[in-house]
Amino acid sequence: MTGLVLDGKALSKQIESELTGRVKAILDRNGGKAPILATILVGDDPASVTYVRMKGNACRRVGMESTQIHLPPESTTEMVLAEIDQLNADPAVHGILLQHPVPKQVEERLCFDRIALAKDVDGVTCLGFGRMAMGEPAHGSATPAGIMRLLAHYKIPLEGRRAVVVGRSPILGKPLAMMLMNANATVTVCHSRTQNLPDVVRQGDIVVGAVGKAEFIKGDWIKPGAVVVDAGYNEGNLGDVELTAVIEKCSAYTPVPGGVGPMTIAMLIAQTVDAAEKAAGLST
Ligand code: NAP
Repeated sequence: MTGLVLDGKALSKQIESELTGRVKAILDRNGGKAPILATILVGDDPASVTYVRMKGNACRRVGMESTQIHLPPESTTEMVLAEIDQLNADPAVHGILLQHPVPKQVEERLCFDRIALAKDVDGVTCLGFGRMAMGEPAHGSATPAGIMRLLAHYKIPLEGRRAVVVGRSPILGKPLAMMLMNANATVTVCHSRTQNLPDVVRQGDIVVGAVGKAEFIKGDWIKPGAVVVDAGYNEGNLGDVELTAVIEKCSAYTPVPGGVGPMTIAMLIAQTVDAAEKAAGLST
Protein backbone atom coordinates (compact mmCIF):
# COMPACT_ATOMS: atom_id res chain seq x y z
CA MET A 1 0.00 0.00 0.00
CA THR A 2 1.29 3.45 -0.87
CA GLY A 3 -0.23 6.24 1.18
CA LEU A 4 -2.43 8.86 -0.41
CA VAL A 5 -0.63 12.20 -0.67
CA LEU A 6 -2.45 14.92 1.27
CA ASP A 7 -1.44 17.66 -1.13
CA GLY A 8 -1.40 20.94 0.77
CA LYS A 9 0.16 22.79 -2.15
CA ALA A 10 -2.69 21.93 -4.52
CA LEU A 11 -5.38 22.60 -1.91
CA SER A 12 -3.84 25.94 -0.94
CA LYS A 13 -3.96 27.01 -4.61
CA GLN A 14 -7.64 26.07 -4.75
CA ILE A 15 -8.31 28.02 -1.54
CA GLU A 16 -6.47 31.06 -2.91
CA SER A 17 -8.56 31.05 -6.08
CA GLU A 18 -11.76 31.00 -3.97
CA LEU A 19 -10.39 33.83 -1.84
CA THR A 20 -9.65 35.97 -4.89
CA GLY A 21 -13.39 36.12 -5.63
CA ARG A 22 -14.24 36.98 -2.03
CA VAL A 23 -11.61 39.74 -1.99
CA LYS A 24 -13.18 41.22 -5.15
CA ALA A 25 -16.53 41.42 -3.34
CA ILE A 26 -14.86 43.23 -0.43
CA LEU A 27 -13.19 45.68 -2.84
CA ASP A 28 -16.59 46.42 -4.43
CA ARG A 29 -18.17 46.99 -1.03
CA ASN A 30 -15.27 49.17 0.23
CA GLY A 31 -14.85 51.45 -2.79
CA GLY A 32 -11.72 49.65 -4.00
CA LYS A 33 -9.95 49.48 -0.63
CA ALA A 34 -8.26 46.11 -0.26
CA PRO A 35 -8.22 44.10 2.98
CA ILE A 36 -4.90 44.50 4.78
CA LEU A 37 -2.84 41.96 6.70
CA ALA A 38 -0.23 43.71 8.85
CA THR A 39 2.87 41.69 9.67
CA ILE A 40 5.32 42.54 12.44
CA LEU A 41 8.80 41.09 12.19
CA VAL A 42 11.20 41.71 15.06
CA GLY A 43 14.85 41.13 14.15
CA ASP A 44 16.44 39.51 11.13
CA ASP A 45 16.08 35.76 11.61
CA PRO A 46 16.44 34.52 8.00
CA ALA A 47 13.65 31.92 8.24
CA SER A 48 11.27 34.53 9.71
CA VAL A 49 12.21 37.04 6.99
CA THR A 50 11.34 34.39 4.39
CA TYR A 51 8.03 33.45 6.07
CA VAL A 52 6.93 37.10 6.26
CA ARG A 53 7.83 37.61 2.61
CA MET A 54 5.86 34.49 1.62
CA LYS A 55 2.83 35.73 3.56
CA GLY A 56 3.02 39.14 1.85
CA ASN A 57 3.24 37.43 -1.55
CA ALA A 58 0.19 35.30 -0.75
CA CYS A 59 -1.76 38.47 0.14
CA ARG A 60 -0.95 39.99 -3.23
CA ARG A 61 -1.89 36.80 -5.10
CA VAL A 62 -5.48 37.06 -3.81
CA GLY A 63 -5.72 40.85 -4.29
CA MET A 64 -5.10 41.85 -0.67
CA GLU A 65 -2.45 44.20 0.66
CA SER A 66 0.12 43.58 3.35
CA THR A 67 1.76 46.20 5.52
CA GLN A 68 5.11 45.02 6.77
CA ILE A 69 6.52 46.42 9.97
CA HIS A 70 10.13 45.48 10.59
CA LEU A 71 11.52 46.27 14.03
CA PRO A 72 15.21 46.04 14.97
CA PRO A 73 16.48 42.96 16.86
CA GLU A 74 17.05 45.00 20.05
CA SER A 75 13.39 46.08 20.23
CA THR A 76 11.68 46.02 23.61
CA THR A 77 8.31 44.52 24.53
CA GLU A 78 6.95 48.08 24.81
CA MET A 79 7.98 48.88 21.24
CA VAL A 80 6.18 45.80 19.92
CA LEU A 81 3.10 46.52 22.04
CA ALA A 82 3.00 50.11 20.71
CA GLU A 83 2.94 48.83 17.11
CA ILE A 84 0.18 46.35 17.94
CA ASP A 85 -1.87 49.10 19.63
CA GLN A 86 -1.63 51.26 16.50
CA LEU A 87 -2.66 48.38 14.23
CA ASN A 88 -5.53 47.43 16.55
CA ALA A 89 -6.83 51.00 16.28
CA ASP A 90 -6.47 51.24 12.49
CA PRO A 91 -9.78 50.35 10.78
CA ALA A 92 -7.96 49.74 7.46
CA VAL A 93 -6.09 46.78 9.01
CA HIS A 94 -8.07 43.52 9.23
CA GLY A 95 -5.46 41.08 10.42
CA ILE A 96 -2.29 41.26 12.52
CA LEU A 97 0.50 38.71 12.42
CA LEU A 98 3.38 38.88 14.87
CA GLN A 99 6.01 36.57 13.38
CA HIS A 100 7.10 33.89 15.86
CA PRO A 101 9.67 33.62 17.39
CA VAL A 102 10.52 37.10 18.67
CA PRO A 103 13.93 37.89 20.22
CA LYS A 104 14.37 36.67 23.81
CA GLN A 105 13.97 40.06 25.51
CA VAL A 106 10.48 40.51 24.03
CA GLU A 107 7.64 38.95 26.03
CA GLU A 108 5.95 37.05 23.24
CA ARG A 109 2.85 35.97 25.17
CA LEU A 110 2.15 39.55 26.31
CA CYS A 111 2.51 40.77 22.72
CA PHE A 112 0.34 38.01 21.24
CA ASP A 113 -2.40 38.72 23.77
CA ARG A 114 -2.40 42.43 22.92
CA ILE A 115 -3.73 41.62 19.42
CA ALA A 116 -7.44 42.44 19.19
CA LEU A 117 -9.52 39.25 18.96
CA ALA A 118 -11.17 40.32 15.69
CA LYS A 119 -7.72 40.85 14.09
CA ASP A 120 -6.10 37.72 15.56
CA VAL A 121 -6.08 35.98 12.18
CA ASP A 122 -3.09 33.83 13.15
CA GLY A 123 -5.02 32.53 16.17
CA VAL A 124 -2.34 33.22 18.77
CA THR A 125 -4.21 34.90 21.62
CA CYS A 126 -5.20 33.11 24.82
CA LEU A 127 -8.73 34.42 24.34
CA GLY A 128 -8.93 33.05 20.79
CA PHE A 129 -7.50 29.70 21.92
CA GLY A 130 -10.02 29.46 24.77
CA ARG A 131 -12.95 30.33 22.51
CA MET A 132 -11.81 27.84 19.86
CA ALA A 133 -11.38 25.14 22.52
CA MET A 134 -14.91 25.81 23.78
CA GLY A 135 -16.33 25.64 20.27
CA GLU A 136 -17.09 29.38 20.17
CA PRO A 137 -16.34 31.46 17.06
CA ALA A 138 -12.65 32.47 16.86
CA HIS A 139 -9.88 32.35 14.29
CA GLY A 140 -7.97 29.12 14.84
CA SER A 141 -4.21 28.94 15.09
CA ALA A 142 -3.17 28.93 11.42
CA THR A 143 -1.09 25.75 11.19
CA PRO A 144 -3.53 23.49 13.07
CA ALA A 145 -6.44 25.08 11.21
CA GLY A 146 -4.63 24.27 7.97
CA ILE A 147 -4.12 20.66 9.05
CA MET A 148 -7.82 20.31 9.92
CA ARG A 149 -8.81 21.79 6.56
CA LEU A 150 -6.50 19.40 4.73
CA LEU A 151 -7.90 16.38 6.62
CA ALA A 152 -11.46 17.55 5.91
CA HIS A 153 -10.71 18.07 2.22
CA TYR A 154 -9.49 14.49 1.86
CA LYS A 155 -12.40 13.24 3.99
CA ILE A 156 -10.12 11.60 6.55
CA PRO A 157 -12.46 10.25 9.23
CA LEU A 158 -11.65 11.58 12.70
CA GLU A 159 -14.65 10.68 14.79
CA GLY A 160 -13.85 7.96 17.30
CA ARG A 161 -10.34 7.52 15.93
CA ARG A 162 -7.22 7.72 18.04
CA ALA A 163 -5.08 10.75 17.23
CA VAL A 164 -1.58 11.03 18.67
CA VAL A 165 -0.07 14.53 18.52
CA VAL A 166 3.66 14.67 19.25
CA GLY A 167 4.36 18.23 20.45
CA ARG A 168 2.36 20.64 22.61
CA SER A 169 3.49 24.10 21.54
CA PRO A 170 1.01 26.96 21.92
CA ILE A 171 0.87 27.56 18.15
CA LEU A 172 0.74 23.97 16.98
CA GLY A 173 0.40 20.87 19.12
CA LYS A 174 -1.88 22.25 21.83
CA PRO A 175 -4.46 23.96 19.60
CA LEU A 176 -4.41 21.03 17.17
CA ALA A 177 -5.20 18.65 20.02
CA MET A 178 -8.25 20.78 20.88
CA MET A 179 -9.39 20.89 17.25
CA LEU A 180 -9.05 17.12 16.89
CA MET A 181 -10.94 16.60 20.14
CA ASN A 182 -13.69 18.96 18.94
CA ALA A 183 -13.88 16.77 15.82
CA ASN A 184 -14.54 13.80 18.15
CA ALA A 185 -11.17 12.11 17.84
CA THR A 186 -9.70 10.50 20.96
CA VAL A 187 -6.57 12.54 21.43
CA THR A 188 -3.25 11.79 23.12
CA VAL A 189 -0.75 14.64 23.35
CA CYS A 190 2.93 13.70 23.72
CA HIS A 191 5.84 15.91 24.70
CA SER A 192 9.43 15.75 25.90
CA ARG A 193 8.48 14.03 29.19
CA THR A 194 6.27 11.37 27.60
CA GLN A 195 7.39 7.85 28.46
CA ASN A 196 7.48 4.98 25.96
CA LEU A 197 6.82 7.40 23.12
CA PRO A 198 7.19 4.81 20.31
CA ASP A 199 4.49 2.63 21.91
CA VAL A 200 2.15 5.58 22.33
CA VAL A 201 2.65 6.65 18.72
CA ARG A 202 1.97 3.04 17.58
CA GLN A 203 -1.58 3.42 18.91
CA GLY A 204 -2.34 6.32 16.59
CA ASP A 205 -4.80 6.01 13.72
CA ILE A 206 -3.73 9.57 13.00
CA VAL A 207 -0.21 10.64 13.98
CA VAL A 208 0.92 14.25 13.93
CA GLY A 209 4.60 15.18 14.10
CA ALA A 210 5.00 18.66 15.63
CA VAL A 211 8.36 18.34 17.36
CA GLY A 212 10.87 20.37 15.36
CA LYS A 213 13.46 17.56 15.10
CA ALA A 214 14.30 16.08 11.70
CA GLU A 215 12.85 12.57 11.20
CA PHE A 216 12.40 12.17 14.94
CA ILE A 217 9.34 9.91 14.56
CA LYS A 218 10.60 6.65 13.10
CA GLY A 219 8.89 4.56 10.46
CA ASP A 220 8.48 1.57 12.77
CA TRP A 221 6.52 3.71 15.28
CA ILE A 222 3.73 4.09 12.74
CA LYS A 223 0.89 1.58 12.71
CA PRO A 224 0.15 0.18 9.22
CA GLY A 225 -2.75 2.10 7.70
CA ALA A 226 -2.32 5.18 9.90
CA VAL A 227 -2.70 8.72 8.57
CA VAL A 228 0.53 10.67 9.05
CA VAL A 229 0.58 14.45 9.30
CA ASP A 230 4.07 15.89 9.34
CA ALA A 231 4.02 19.51 10.49
CA GLY A 232 7.78 19.67 10.93
CA TYR A 233 10.00 21.66 8.65
CA ASN A 234 13.68 21.20 9.34
CA GLU A 235 16.94 21.80 7.52
CA GLY A 236 17.34 19.78 4.35
CA ASN A 237 13.59 19.82 3.61
CA LEU A 238 13.06 17.16 6.28
CA GLY A 239 9.95 16.79 8.34
CA ASP A 240 9.58 15.44 11.88
CA VAL A 241 8.63 11.98 10.59
CA GLU A 242 10.89 9.52 8.79
CA LEU A 243 8.59 9.78 5.80
CA THR A 244 10.52 7.53 3.41
CA ALA A 245 9.93 4.64 5.82
CA VAL A 246 6.24 5.48 6.20
CA ILE A 247 4.96 6.09 2.67
CA GLU A 248 4.55 2.37 1.89
CA LYS A 249 2.71 1.48 5.10
CA CYS A 250 0.47 4.46 5.88
CA SER A 251 -2.95 5.12 4.34
CA ALA A 252 -2.22 8.83 3.78
CA TYR A 253 0.51 11.35 4.55
CA THR A 254 1.45 14.98 4.13
CA PRO A 255 4.63 15.45 2.08
CA VAL A 256 7.43 17.76 3.21
CA PRO A 257 7.53 20.26 1.62
CA GLY A 258 4.11 20.78 0.06
CA GLY A 259 1.89 19.43 2.83
CA VAL A 260 1.24 21.44 5.98
CA GLY A 261 3.39 24.49 5.12
CA PRO A 262 1.29 25.93 2.26
CA MET A 263 -1.89 25.28 4.27
CA THR A 264 -0.65 27.51 7.11
CA ILE A 265 -0.33 30.49 4.77
CA ALA A 266 -3.65 29.72 3.08
CA MET A 267 -5.44 29.69 6.44
CA LEU A 268 -3.81 32.94 7.53
CA ILE A 269 -5.02 34.63 4.36
CA ALA A 270 -8.47 32.99 4.57
CA GLN A 271 -8.91 34.17 8.15
CA THR A 272 -7.90 37.70 7.15
CA VAL A 273 -10.54 37.62 4.42
CA ASP A 274 -13.08 36.37 7.01
CA ALA A 275 -12.16 39.31 9.26
CA ALA A 276 -12.40 41.79 6.37
CA GLU A 277 -15.82 40.44 5.36
CA LYS A 278 -17.06 40.92 8.91
CA ALA A 279 -15.68 44.47 9.02
CA ALA A 280 -17.36 45.23 5.66
CA GLY A 281 -20.69 43.84 6.86
CA LEU A 282 -20.59 41.01 4.31
CA SER A 283 -20.83 38.38 7.04
CA THR A 284 -21.68 38.25 10.73
P1 NAP B 1 8.30 23.97 19.59
O1 NAP B 1 7.63 25.17 20.12
O2 NAP B 1 9.78 23.85 19.72
O3 NAP B 1 7.63 22.70 20.29
C1 NAP B 1 8.16 21.42 20.11
C2 NAP B 1 7.36 20.42 20.89
O4 NAP B 1 7.98 19.15 20.72
C3 NAP B 1 7.32 20.70 22.40
O5 NAP B 1 6.03 20.53 22.90
C4 NAP B 1 8.28 19.66 22.98
O6 NAP B 1 7.91 19.19 24.26
C5 NAP B 1 8.13 18.54 21.98
N1 NAP B 1 9.34 17.71 22.03
C6 NAP B 1 10.63 18.12 21.97
N2 NAP B 1 11.46 17.06 22.11
C7 NAP B 1 10.67 15.98 22.26
C8 NAP B 1 10.92 14.61 22.47
N3 NAP B 1 12.18 14.14 22.57
N4 NAP B 1 9.89 13.77 22.60
C9 NAP B 1 8.62 14.22 22.52
N5 NAP B 1 8.30 15.53 22.32
C10 NAP B 1 9.33 16.39 22.20
O7 NAP B 1 8.00 23.75 18.06
P2 NAP B 1 6.74 24.23 17.16
O8 NAP B 1 6.79 25.70 16.96
O9 NAP B 1 5.49 23.59 17.63
O10 NAP B 1 7.17 23.56 15.77
C11 NAP B 1 7.28 22.16 15.61
C12 NAP B 1 7.67 21.87 14.17
O11 NAP B 1 6.65 22.33 13.31
C13 NAP B 1 8.94 22.55 13.69
O12 NAP B 1 9.61 21.70 12.77
C14 NAP B 1 8.47 23.77 12.96
O13 NAP B 1 9.35 24.21 11.94
C15 NAP B 1 7.20 23.24 12.36
N6 NAP B 1 6.19 24.29 12.10
C16 NAP B 1 5.74 24.36 10.83
C17 NAP B 1 4.82 25.31 10.52
C18 NAP B 1 4.32 25.38 9.12
O14 NAP B 1 3.68 26.33 8.75
N7 NAP B 1 4.59 24.36 8.32
C19 NAP B 1 4.32 26.19 11.47
C20 NAP B 1 4.78 26.07 12.78
C21 NAP B 1 5.73 25.11 13.08
P3 NAP B 1 7.95 20.09 25.60
O15 NAP B 1 6.69 20.95 25.52
O16 NAP B 1 7.92 19.12 26.70
O17 NAP B 1 9.20 20.92 25.52
